[in-house]
Amino acid sequence: MIIKATYITNGDITTLSIDELRQGGVKGLILDLDSTIMVSKSGEISNDVKEWLDAAHQAFDGAIVVLSNNKREEYMRQAEGVLKIRVIGHGKKPFAKGFLKALESLNLNENEVAVVGDRALTDILGGNMNRLKTVLVWPLKSIREPGWKTFVRNLERALVRASKPSK
Ligand SMILES: [Mg+2]
Repeated sequence: MIIKATYITNGDITTLSIDELRQGGVKGLILDLDSTIMVSKSGEISNDVKEWLDAAHQAFDGAIVVLSNNKREEYMRQAEGVLKIRVIGHGKKPFAKGFLKALESLNLNENEVAVVGDRALTDILGGNMNRLKTVLVWPLKSIREPGWKTFVRNLERALVRASKPSK
């Protein structure tokens, strides 16, 4: 099985070029939360990620939403307070419901929105199934996770190939 992502970065989300996304026709973002913009359960974002989010917020005129599979409502609201971005929890990625809710809040067409996440089988597969553009990023360097999780992630990543960026 090969999973196509529109873009694959060589680093975490802060290495993703906002200009390149815009040139590829992206007008809004659906961002994964854990390991993509926030260290799981930390409730904090790094300065680097904050800078990137601020730049993205400006470039996409606020058309950014966070979609997480996390079910803890309290954590979602805490993240929302820190990020100042709408956070939709219980996303059930890769299934459609959460993506549709996120898309609706952006008020854009599928092909104008990129899903950015660190997991192939939830973020990327789900984005593809919902006809969104997709970006596979590396998890934040500062995450602490058990070895088996890194192993599974790397197995998943081996399934993903970048398609040519659309013009
Ligand atoms: Mg994640």
